[in-house]
Amino acid sequence: MADRSGAPGAGAEAQLLLDRCDELAAISSEPDRLVRVHLSKEHKAANELVAQWMTEAGMSTWQDAAGNQCGRIEGSEPDLPALLLGSHIDTVPDAGRYDGMLGVLLAIQVVSRLRGRSLPFAVEVVAFSDEEGTRFGTALLGSRALAGTWDDEWWNLTDEHGITLFEAFQDFGLDPARLPGAFRRPENLVGYLEAHIEQGPWLEDADRSLGFVTSIAGARRFELTMVGKAGHAGGSPYDRRKDALVGASELVVEIERLSKQQHVIGTVGKLEVFPGGVNVIPGRVEFSLDLRAEFDDDRDEALRLIHEAAEEIASRRGLHFHAHEFYRADAVVCDLDLRAAIEAGIRSTGDAAPLGLYSRAGHDGMAVVAVAPIAMLFLRCKGGVSHHPDESVTRHDVAAALDAFEAAVLALAEAAAA
Ligand SMILES: [Zn+2]
Repeated sequence: MADRSGAPGAGAEAQLLLDRCDELAAISSEPDRLVRVHLSKEHKAANELVAQWMTEAGMSTWQDAAGNQCGRIEGSEPDLPALLLGSHIDTVPDAGRYDGMLGVLLAIQVVSRLRGRSLPFAVEVVAFSDEEGTRFGTALLGSRALAGTWDDEWWNLTDEHGITLFEAFQDFGLDPARLPGAFRRPENLVGYLEAHIEQGPWLEDADRSLGFVTSIAGARRFELTMVGKAGHAGGSPYDRRKDALVGASELVVEIERLSKQQHVIGTVGKLEVFPGGVNVIPGRVEFSLDLRAEFDDDRDEALRLIHEAAEEIASRRGLHFHAHEFYRADAVVCDLDLRAAIEAGIRSTGDAAPLGLYSRAGHDGMAVVAVAPIAMLFLRCKGGVSHHPDESVTRHDVAAALDAFEAAVLALAEAAAA
């Protein structure tokens, strides 16, 4: 494919970044698939490699008190507030090689390009230690430490081997008592920009390399329970059955119908039937609901309708319905000025009318927004696939993303200097 990207050598730089993604992907705790979790020895090795690339790009580097790998170049004078660029370097099990990592590498390469320029702010790159939450079940630990929204209860979280987060910090060579040192004061930050693969098919469908993010969807998650009465399959006429699974099934279908109708995304991803015998009427079903939308009001209205439907189904079938919320994150809106800079960056690559879209997946920006305005650049990925080894991007799109990301930083520098 012809390289339409503007900067000379962008194709070669894009290839370099793809090669580095391969290098990072080789740092895995399992030989046949990519798994690199928070505070593992692979995390340490990845931090060291990223620090080396940061140094080569002209940055001073350090690992912060939460295990985030950081690098910095000064602006026109020392100690100016910093524009943060970054993404995460932890992965889900059997991960692809671009989710997170590519954003870190794009950020480092932008700094490499900016080297020697006099900017009205410092530029820092952060490779966040934990975005996915794979090891301890709670996501965004690295960015929450940076944003000062750490919850001390998390120290007792355990991984699958019973190791607490507190112990894992110590094993990694970090001192839990120093964690507050990772906190970044808002007055020292200009904003946070992240480039990330889209994790959806909308850019591909629109035949675009890049897009800007309008907001990051907020999600609410519930454990749902439908309770009926177990009994022998042969000994219970239909009119006397209280079959919890038939009721739950009806609700699952209704969740899809209502979610489509209300333009939200509702997913039942887990379902367990009790007691679970082939000849036993299900007495109890436990299932999950993940509900997300561009706007919190739409999400909450859909939730109200789902609740109504659940109560109606339960009362008609003589069942009891119960919902327990265990996770809630509200939508985060991208800052208009930073967003405009990302749009200008995309326009500089030849896309005159950049596509805006909201992120259906969570990102570190959801935490960073507590201390700095945020915006994101999305990059097309093949088939919208992510969290899977089939994750794929083109060299052309990576080159375009690099040009756009650099142009976005320069647009911010121009606005700040004006
Ligand atoms: Zn990610």
